[in-house]
Amino acid sequence: MHTLEDIESTLLSLKNTFATGKTKAYQWRIEQLNGLMRLCEVHEKDICEALSLDLRKCYTEAYLQEVGYVKADIKHTQKKLKKWMKPRRVSTPLLAFPAKSFHQPEPLGVVFIMGAWNFPFQLVLAPLVAAIGAGNCAVMKPSELTPHTSKLIAKLVPQYLDSDAFAVVEGGKEVSTDLLKQRFDHIFYTGGEVVGKIVMKAASQYLTPVTLELGGKSPCIVDKECNLLVAARRIVWGKWSNAGQICIAPDYLLVHEDIKNEFVDTLKQVLLEQFGDDPSQSKDYGRIINDAHFKRLLAYIETSQCDVIGGKHDTDSRFIEPTLLVEPKNSALVMQEEIFGPILPVISFSDHQDALDKINQGEKPLALYLFTGNDDVQQRYLLNTSSGNVCINDTMIFMSNSNLAFGGVGNSGMGRYHGQSGFDLLSNVKAVMIRPFILDVFIRYAPFNKFKLTLLKFLQ
Ligand code: NAD
Repeated sequence: MHTLEDIESTLLSLKNTFATGKTKAYQWRIEQLNGLMRLCEVHEKDICEALSLDLRKCYTEAYLQEVGYVKADIKHTQKKLKKWMKPRRVSTPLLAFPAKSFHQPEPLGVVFIMGAWNFPFQLVLAPLVAAIGAGNCAVMKPSELTPHTSKLIAKLVPQYLDSDAFAVVEGGKEVSTDLLKQRFDHIFYTGGEVVGKIVMKAASQYLTPVTLELGGKSPCIVDKECNLLVAARRIVWGKWSNAGQICIAPDYLLVHEDIKNEFVDTLKQVLLEQFGDDPSQSKDYGRIINDAHFKRLLAYIETSQCDVIGGKHDTDSRFIEPTLLVEPKNSALVMQEEIFGPILPVISFSDHQDALDKINQGEKPLALYLFTGNDDVQQRYLLNTSSGNVCINDTMIFMSNSNLAFGGVGNSGMGRYHGQSGFDLLSNVKAVMIRPFILDVFIRYAPFNKFKLTLLKFLQ
């Protein structure tokens, strides 16, 4: 257990390392990225095993969404880092001519990364890739709800990365609270809204910038002009991997009324294809993280007052089968909170304005999914909704593109990362202008007159 004194001394030592300037070197950053890559490669099995013990994540998904995901991020950063670190030239107005103007990224210092439990490996190490790329030191605190993964990260990081620059602190709420009392140069938090507010409040003491990667109710619209089978496969994949405990999982479906019954049947057929007639026996189907979340999810089913398809569960193993709730009322508990589990409400809409109104009456979601082959409908949703991310005709596959900046808006979070956006987020991209002594334009100096003003207006 880390005491407040341990935390203070860890932070002091990281700050001292940063002050030496060694983290600024391109070569040092590349070595750390190489170390992290080796960690992922050598310990792929250990990591997937820890994820199975914590969440009963199957190997393929543990690899794809956690280890492989971090490796892809590292590879992308290794390839682009030299370019990202270079000064970025911008033009100079006549008034300041001659001059060189550019943006020069520099590291911030020590970044604090707080991870959530649903992707306990990826959500700590992907922000770390951005922190390393940008030349920072970092303190990481994995979620206490996934103790096997947390312990493994704490064991492996010092073996593969520079211990003078990176530290893992394990623990729960008390440890997070002690960490949040410290003065960091950036806090990168992934988790729920309630703790997000605690983080932001703590950060305000030192005006520390924060990134909040939160969640929310991500809608998924299914239009009539759509390949229902492909849509169902992609939705089942996005909704039921990790037993629905994914921040960007479709939270609820809005299905055009003309195809609703057919689509519900297609979903049932695809669920059968993917998880069999007894999903509790499927090695690819996850479990709920803890008893509190299990009870919360069952309450959604019990209070839904609508047709329930599925709903079987087992308390001992915290299993809840993939469940559809057909036409719950807007006032039902399941439509008031982020579900974050294997339950999918299906609600019909009569026209697109109806669906847009339903979406826009809620908070801005983290992701919005739309299934339609109609370009005008695609444009209509893009222009008339606001969300952190949009994926048309698929679900969470957009996360595989490191060139896309990932983050929320409004209640679903602030700040974006992955690829260059993560590098920029954890850098101070400072503005620089360099001028020679020649050509000292006298008209900007007092005493002013009409002639000078006319000329200044022209040059500005
Ligand atoms: P969690 O319980 O693992 O908490 C996240 C972190 O907050 C942990 O490190 C924990 O120790 C710390 N914490 C908990 N209570 C605290 C307190 N009172 N004071 C200080 N620190 C505290 O995760 P969670 O909040 O259950 O995560 C689920 C939420 O995260 C969902 O809303 C989901 O949508 C969101 N999420 C978002 C993303 C994203 O990338 N946007 C990714 C995953 C999850």
